[in-house]
Amino acid sequence: MDRFSFTPSLFGPAGSLWIHSMLTVIILMTMLLSIRLLLSRRKIGYFSMLVALGITLLQYGQLIARAWNPEAGDMQTFFELTLKVLAFVMINIGIFQLYNPTRKRDSAVIILFFLLTAAACSTYWLAPSWLQGSEEHTRLLRPLGLELYLFILLFLSFLLVNPRIGQNGKFQAMLTFYFGSHTLHMANLYIFEDKQPLMKLLEQLLPFGFHIILFLFIFERIIEIMQAIYTSSITDGLTRLYNRKYFSNRLSQAIQQRLPVSVIFSDIDNFKKLNDTKGHHMGDQVLKQVAQIMKEEAEEAGICGRYGGEEMVVMVTDGSTSPDELAERIRARVESETIVTVSMGHSKLKKGVGPDELVKQADEAMYKAKTTGKNKVVGWS
Ligand code: GH3
Ligand code: MG
Ligand code: MG
Repeated sequence: MDRFSFTPSLFGPAGSLWIHSMLTVIILMTMLLSIRLLLSRRKIGYFSMLVALGITLLQYGQLIARAWNPEAGDMQTFFELTLKVLAFVMINIGIFQLYNPTRKRDSAVIILFFLLTAAACSTYWLAPSWLQGSEEHTRLLRPLGLELYLFILLFLSFLLVNPRIGQNGKFQAMLTFYFGSHTLHMANLYIFEDKQPLMKLLEQLLPFGFHIILFLFIFERIIEIMQAIYTSSITDGLTRLYNRKYFSNRLSQAIQQRLPVSVIFSDIDNFKKLNDTKGHHMGDQVLKQVAQIMKEEAEEAGICGRYGGEEMVVMVTDGSTSPDELAERIRARVESETIVTVSMGHSKLKKGVGPDELVKQADEAMYKAKTTGKNKVVGWS
């Protein structure tokens, strides 16, 4: 019966086997997401992340092998440690590259870290001749160089990588899990002679925190990309206002929901002349300025869209906002803050009127503003 009880199986080789198998599953899932991202984005960061995860997988594969056969030779211990250090270095490089374009100087730092890692690895083989102690003594102390090097790496991650990526909180939590696990490992090995099963268990459980956050890092990337694709499909690239298709959909929806809808239609005055005299680039800048003013003023009352070239529209769904006053505020701000003026028309939804008809009425009102002197607001009647 003992074999089937849950608690004891968390400790010792069986626990190690179980924990590392679970970790392997999380790492494999993170790898799948990274492959997906690498295929669609071809960014060096995802490639580094894949290499890092591949090394981590090897590292846990070794630990699983160790659970079957606890007696490790010098070579196996060396490989375990080297994989652990390399995986940590590569994960940091991957995360750094995900949030920064790799410049020449960064590449030099990355190469420096590989050289440092090689130097740290060499201490494992040089230590016996330095120490010249008993075999037991040497066996215990020769990994110390690499183990301490991991602490230095952790410290450098906090110092070098953390400030250069956006998600500081998450990365800090990852490093804290790693630090906790490694500190327990060191304390157990060098103070308690590797005889504290609870410490060993915690040392093995803390990497779950590390790898779950790493998974979330990558997963969040996928969500960010999906959001960016969606946003660009419903907005206009220049003004960042909603595009005509999305605006029309939202207008139809609002009318179906029987909201108190009004539409404001605006057209920049003498815009062709501005383009001709000051150039297209200047024209674009002015378009952006006008769009920004509209967005700021209409934010709480409804949504804005770019209807055509320099024609912008507002859908007002807030019953307490007067479209006439809102349009007047926009007109006045455009006049005082930019080098152009706008003519505006607005219309309030009446029974039996559809979305296209409502926009057409506001457009007609705007046309009346154009033909009666421009730079004014006219309501449809
Ligand atoms: P009106 O006062 O009668 O509106 O005169 P207008 O010159 O503004 O006339 P109209 O509305 O017909 O001209 C629209 C011009 O807007 C034509 C086109 O060159 C310019 N335009 C349209 N889209 C863009 C754009 O994205 N960038 C720039 N710079 N110009 C644009
Ligand atoms: Mg126009
Ligand atoms: Mg115009």
